[in-house]
Amino acid sequence: MKFVILDVYPQENHRLIKDTAGGYGTGNNFGKNLFSKLLNVYVDNKIGMPAMEIMYISSILKKDHKVHYSRKFDDPEIIDADFIILPSSIIAHETEINTLEKLKDKRIFVTGIFSNILKDKYEKKNTVVIKNESDTFFYNLQKSGKLNTEFLLSIFDDPKLINQFYSPVNLDDFPFPDWKNYSKNYPLRNDFFGLKEKIAIPILATRGCPYSCFNYCTYPLQQGRKVRARSVQNIVEEIKYWQNKIGCNKFVFRDPVFSINRKHTINLCNEIINQKLNIKFMVETHLNNMDDEMIKLLKNAGLELIYVGVESSNHVVLEDMKRFTIEHDKQYEIIKKCEDAGIIVKTMFIIGNPEDTEETINASIQYSKYLPSLYAQFSVFTPYPGTPVYGDFKELINVKELEKFNQYNLVFKHKNLSAEKIEKLKSSAYIKFYLNFKKIFQVLRYFLRSKYV
Ligand code: SF4
Repeated sequence: MKFVILDVYPQENHRLIKDTAGGYGTGNNFGKNLFSKLLNVYVDNKIGMPAMEIMYISSILKKDHKVHYSRKFDDPEIIDADFIILPSSIIAHETEINTLEKLKDKRIFVTGIFSNILKDKYEKKNTVVIKNESDTFFYNLQKSGKLNTEFLLSIFDDPKLINQFYSPVNLDDFPFPDWKNYSKNYPLRNDFFGLKEKIAIPILATRGCPYSCFNYCTYPLQQGRKVRARSVQNIVEEIKYWQNKIGCNKFVFRDPVFSINRKHTINLCNEIINQKLNIKFMVETHLNNMDDEMIKLLKNAGLELIYVGVESSNHVVLEDMKRFTIEHDKQYEIIKKCEDAGIIVKTMFIIGNPEDTEETINASIQYSKYLPSLYAQFSVFTPYPGTPVYGDFKELINVKELEKFNQYNLVFKHKNLSAEKIEKLKSSAYIKFYLNFKKIFQVLRYFLRSKYV
């Protein structure tokens, strides 16, 4: 059989990525002023990848079948494909629906958690929406021996047949994602550590997040609230596999909260150190999981960059979001220790939170400058369909196009702030954070160090 993975996106002048925001995706539109536009181009050129799930599926199918990955809805490979697989997202929702309509004569499996949330939009005569983690479905289907044309066609007549393929899979049993094939035609752009290496392999060590911010976050929708981890041996095996296959020593851990399981993280770091893997990697984690021991160990294992959610400097705003956080002094202390140890920190802030005012947002921007992190990101609070908080905002949503729900636009009528005001505050946040002597000196020092050390 021949499968075409058809991964479509709208035309935008900023980065669009479906792997982030729990598979809903994000579109990094930093704003309309010159500096924001330059940032849009920089990030679009430097960082890009498809959803990891789809690369797992590609590996599973490739065992016995042909798989072609494409971003063009008119790709000639589609003509003789037996089945299409279309990864869903909120950031490309309308484009995906248009594509489904254009390919009425094809049988299409739609994957990704967003198509489960908006099932009525994705369910058509010629589509089957795969539930939850779609790699689990395809893995079980392949293992059952039913991954053949006849059975797949019968699913389109009776979609309930998919229900038998959801038994939990030990994460070690999945094949490694199909990056080798993908990177032949599309650049795996992950050039955010410095100037020396251009790509980094995305890697998933754990799935799931139990934190209280599931109220507004989409990761628990996609992966559940229970943490599931691959064995240390399996992760190390994958690292060595990519080192040997494509000579890549740089990795991006895409776990929602890396180091959530302390013992597992310590074992993984020790194994990386003991086996002298000599890698560089980045993670996203919670500041609460970092202390002297972890900072030292992670640095020795090769940690270069860490993303941490700060969200807001205001406790009322944070409490309303049900965001568990640590005190300001402690945040400063941990970030400083990381930066002093040579681990770059990127703090992530959200503006336009339900209780935000212009004053609280300006205070968060000031706080971001006070914190000693090299980088900061300011996105916009987005009530996503499917999250618990969505019910509170449903009636206030004033943006119809779901592709605009990219985490960088205000999509609801905020009680204190207009969309224009949020747009200005977002743009000015980036200018205030990056365009000052202290930051320019800090960034230059980092780039010179990474170039020559
Ligand atoms: S820590 Fe909160 S924001 Fe981060 S993945 Fe978990 S639920 Fe989402």
